[in-house]
Amino acid sequence: MSEPLLSIRDLHVHYSSEGKVVKAVNGVNLSLNKGESLGLVGETGAGKTTTALAIMRLVQPPQGRYVAGEIRFDGQDLLNMEDAEIRQIRGNRISMIFQDPMTSLNPVYTVGDQIAEVIWSHEKVTREEARSKAGAIMEMVGIPAERSSEYPHEFSGGMRQRIVIAMALACDPALLLADEPTTALDVTIQAQVLELMKKLKRELGTSLIMITHDLGIVAEVCDKVAIMYAGEIVEAGPLEDVFRSRHRHPYTEGLFQSIPQMDVRQRRLTPIGGLAPDPTELPTGCPFHPRCQYAMDICANKKPPTVEISPGYTVTCFLHENRNAPSEMRDEAKL
Ligand code: SF4
Repeated sequence: MSEPLLSIRDLHVHYSSEGKVVKAVNGVNLSLNKGESLGLVGETGAGKTTTALAIMRLVQPPQGRYVAGEIRFDGQDLLNMEDAEIRQIRGNRISMIFQDPMTSLNPVYTVGDQIAEVIWSHEKVTREEARSKAGAIMEMVGIPAERSSEYPHEFSGGMRQRIVIAMALACDPALLLADEPTTALDVTIQAQVLELMKKLKRELGTSLIMITHDLGIVAEVCDKVAIMYAGEIVEAGPLEDVFRSRHRHPYTEGLFQSIPQMDVRQRRLTPIGGLAPDPTELPTGCPFHPRCQYAMDICANKKPPTVEISPGYTVTCFLHENRNAPSEMRDEAKL
């Protein structure tokens, strides 16, 4: 089989803060083929954004460091590249849409110049050619090219987000990392941006990692899902398998129970009890054990195994260690 476009193996990323070590990513394994889209889901602080920043090689010393692991992109080892080499890939073959468009756009340059700058710095084109391509990309994301001479403050929130998407797409990246691209938008604009992402995937074959805490967005845009908790992937697999699973990780089960359902009468949603752990003092054993309703004695002391439930679908939990009897084990654990 050919090598996936992106392959992450046992990635550990730490930050230093006020004399403490923040363990942001703790042994992440992921892979993504050309044209595939993956939803990376979890609460704030789960390590999703740090994983994306690590792929972009934007975790910088002295605060941030890659403690262990490997990130391979299109056959190249990203973590061992020289800075000049990674600059050729970043913004060109791998792009990122950041969460807040107002902090990603420069208020004193026109949007056309900002998009053209990305093209000009990576491709052998004149400034005029770069400007013309920038106009074409603006049209593609639904903004008239004539508006390329306007400044960010002259656009609405949804349009600014489209401009940020246009910047990320300027060099036809093979991999697009979208960090909560719709969080700051109202629902109608959110629907338009999601439709745009689907179109890009369909028409340009761009691979996508969509970072979100919203499983509804994942269902709409992604082929695969990875659920992150405390810097680890606790469940991952094809969209259908995870959404229809009877063998979910208890954390994923909690995420699904906190989604309102239109066809079920519910007075209250069921939240996941407790808070996400402090990354400077992660719990021993399974990091979810202080919040898990199925926790057993072993969960506090030992790391749970990653069990393959079906081809490509894995869950990291002791409940599935004996894969043939998960329901009985659950019943036992509840007693
Ligand atoms: Fe809960 Fe134990 Fe499974 Fe962790 S390993 S999710 S604590 S049952």
